[in-house]
Amino acid sequence: MFKSYRVGTIHGIPFKLDITFLIILPVFVWLIGAQIGDVVPLFNDAFGTSLETETLTAGNREWIVGFVAAVSLFTSVALHELGHAAVALSYGYEIESITLWLLGGIAKPAELPTEWQHEFWIAVAGPVVNVVIALGCGAALVVVPASDVLVFLLLYLALLNIVLPVFNMLPAFPLDGGRVLRALLARNQSYVRATRQAAAVGKGMALLLGIVGLLAFNFVLVAIAFFVYIAATSESRQMMLDAAFEGMVVQSVMTKTGRLSTVDAALSLDELLDVMFEERHSGYPVIEDGEFVGIVTLSDVQSADSSDESVRDVMTPNEQLATVSPSTDVMDAFTTIGTEDVGRLPVVDEDGSLVGIITRTDMMRAFRVVTERQRFEDKLSSARSL
Ligand SMILES: [Zn+2]
Repeated sequence: MFKSYRVGTIHGIPFKLDITFLIILPVFVWLIGAQIGDVVPLFNDAFGTSLETETLTAGNREWIVGFVAAVSLFTSVALHELGHAAVALSYGYEIESITLWLLGGIAKPAELPTEWQHEFWIAVAGPVVNVVIALGCGAALVVVPASDVLVFLLLYLALLNIVLPVFNMLPAFPLDGGRVLRALLARNQSYVRATRQAAAVGKGMALLLGIVGLLAFNFVLVAIAFFVYIAATSESRQMMLDAAFEGMVVQSVMTKTGRLSTVDAALSLDELLDVMFEERHSGYPVIEDGEFVGIVTLSDVQSADSSDESVRDVMTPNEQLATVSPSTDVMDAFTTIGTEDVGRLPVVDEDGSLVGIITRTDMMRAFRVVTERQRFEDKLSSARSL
């Protein structure tokens, strides 16, 4: 996911446009507008219509047609996401945001579904909306006056709303088919394991798509396969983390103050390096008069101007640090570590005193233990059910 812009809210859910979507929209206007001449004979052959290219392209009309078609596509994708959101809300889940991007949209739920049926119906609801739109366009074609522009647009929209759900049901994250697959896999095993299996299928699917594209010299297909693979990889990782850290808070993963080594603010950089060498940590919470005042890392030492500076001079002070509380979700802390680009976050309670530190390493270690435990439990329960 790249940068995204918030454009409004629906039922309190932030609605965002990803930068990749803003790029793809004018591309679609151009693609649709420029191809009217090629598409019209295809439509006439396939649907027995008698559309005329000249009527559709007279006086730069093709760009208006292209624009209306692209915006209708955009609206179809948005309605698709609202379909997911509506079903999720009806089950009582919160939706964090709805984002439209290159490969469509994402309605991000605030938590994992607790039952596989929930995830299944939430995932299916989006494609169902597209099928309904396609049917609606079909019905409209019967009743509208035979204007070439209108018939062309309705046919176009109907076709897109058939292609969209078919593509979306490919079993690869972040496509809906990936979620449907995970829901079905989670019927009789843990979410962590179902996610891992669905992720493997998704990557395999993308590779297959890429190979078919190469063999058919269809480079659009290769490009789509490439994007699906990239998205499937990062989304799978994210979903594995989500599944593993579900319901877990910082308190249970952090290194608590009692087991934490700290350094004094008055320490010289020489002495600090000695401590770092001895204990082989690259960062320390800094304490002055028993209070937590900042964090000092190896790179702070590297950027020091002179060797007679103290820890106090080079550390990042308290006020400039991103911190988390013991009750923060582990996944949120993980995101903060990523966005702040730091290796560790101080964990502070309500009155600002340090209760621990959470590091990337802490989280990855916890992640490995959780997934291993799940694997173990799944093995136990499948042995029991035999
Ligand atoms: Zn969807």
